[in-house]
Amino acid sequence: MLVGVMQDIKELTLKELEETLKSFGANAYNARQIFSWIYKKGVSEFAQMSDLSQSLRDSLSKSFYISGLAIVKKLKSSDGTQKLLFKLKDASLIEAVIIPAKGRITGCLSTQVGCKFACRFCASGISGFKRNLTSSEIIEEVLYLKRESLPERLTHLVFMGTGEPLDNYNEIIRAIRIINSPDGCNIGARRITISTSGIIPGIQKLAGEGLQIELSVSLHAAGEKLRTEIMPINEKYPLKELIAACKEYVAKTNRQITFEYILIKGLNAGLKNAQELSKLLSGWKLAKVNLIPSNLISELKAAPPEKKDILAFRDYLIKHKVNVTLRKERGEDINAACGQLRLTYAKE
Ligand code: SAH
Repeated sequence: MLVGVMQDIKELTLKELEETLKSFGANAYNARQIFSWIYKKGVSEFAQMSDLSQSLRDSLSKSFYISGLAIVKKLKSSDGTQKLLFKLKDASLIEAVIIPAKGRITGCLSTQVGCKFACRFCASGISGFKRNLTSSEIIEEVLYLKRESLPERLTHLVFMGTGEPLDNYNEIIRAIRIINSPDGCNIGARRITISTSGIIPGIQKLAGEGLQIELSVSLHAAGEKLRTEIMPINEKYPLKELIAACKEYVAKTNRQITFEYILIKGLNAGLKNAQELSKLLSGWKLAKVNLIPSNLISELKAAPPEKKDILAFRDYLIKHKVNVTLRKERGEDINAACGQLRLTYAKE
């Protein structure tokens, strides 16, 4: 066997691991056993893989390592939401959240360290972008959240933490294939949601992956000018082209798209905005709007509208036959929205 640089074993799909094992002179079927140890039983050392031969365990530990995340801070909200702050090998900080609800537990994952996109309401972009997460680091978030959820089962995943998933496309898809695989974490594709700020080439590519995952698009405004003001990415990928790409995605995959719309007081939450939004989506059966009252982020002067204005916005959409839900805010007492914990930790 070649003695070279140690490789992170979680970077390999099952197929790739099978090939590598063959090149070791080991059996391809051992790959399934190794997957089961790492992704189902959550072990972090080859020595614990008791159904592998001693010599295979030795060779594996000479060529591979099994990495993990270091926990820096854990916060639990009175509503059960849990926020975790991790330190990566290069000392970068990332956050993930566990959101328990009736009959399900959702893990919210980060995909990048920091964020390039500087949406006006979001804390993630405040200190800029550092780097992409690797597929292995993304999977480590899942494994940690799985362990932390025990004895309950982590049932759903949303890529709605810090970063833009479709700006880190290859690593996300690689991670999802392992997370989704029955030999890996075995979380069903329909229980995995990617949320994007509207990266059109990523949406187009995703439509061809043959994955049954859920897609959410962060809309936040239904007119070009306001959307550019709230989300600078709208300059590169304007609303008109974004909506066309979403329609194409729906036509190709026959899957529903959810449009996320954060309601921010004095900015995008008036009835005129509701009217514009209903015009944009009217008659579109496979589109749904999820209204999210903004979290209070003092650095960004983002605040939610009054309750009566939130309900009026929602009712306008209902009346104009737009599928709409109103998200109940979770974990407000622990700064659970995007990037908020990393931000407060960095200030301490
Ligand atoms: N870059 C991707 C993934 C980040 S998730 C995207 O833009 O979709 C973005 C989500 O984080 C938003 O849709 C919203 O659900 C949440 N979020 C960010 N800032 C928030 C705030 N100030 N208040 C409430 N939710 C927020």
